[in-house]
Amino acid sequence: MKAGIYIHVPFCAKKCPYCDFYSAAYRADTAERYTEAVLRNIAALPDGLSADTVYFGGGTPSMLPPAHIERILRAIRERCDAAADAEITLEANPLTMTDAKLSAWRESGINRLSVGVQSFQPDVLAQLGRKHTPE
Ligand code: SF4
Repeated sequence: MKAGIYIHVPFCAKKCPYCDFYSAAYRADTAERYTEAVLRNIAALPDGLSADTVYFGGGTPSMLPPAHIERILRAIRERCDAAADAEITLEANPLTMTDAKLSAWRESGINRLSVGVQSFQPDVLAQLGRKHTPE
């Protein structure tokens, strides 16, 4: 049986009033320490693990610099037998998506995005405390 690897990225631009997931404000030094901790966890995975899915959830994984995502995925590939056609998902907040990030994610192997649109109605977005617009 193949494993699914879930990586919780615990950073957000701000806390949404309805959210119970753990997250804290993004800081570059904390993100570096966080990534080093994830790499240590990957190194400690059991031998012979095969994975067919990798999921970056959060928090807001799209806030993590693409170079960190790339380091984590490289470590997973080196430590696990990750299927060549593995589904690799990243949760992305619309405000943190740029063309450069999309290219970098694609380059590092992300092949699925879960975009936190929440709503296409401005009043609902305002009620939820979201800063992006339907556009
Ligand atoms: S951006 Fe997502 S994970 Fe972060 S606080 Fe809002 S709902 Fe929660």
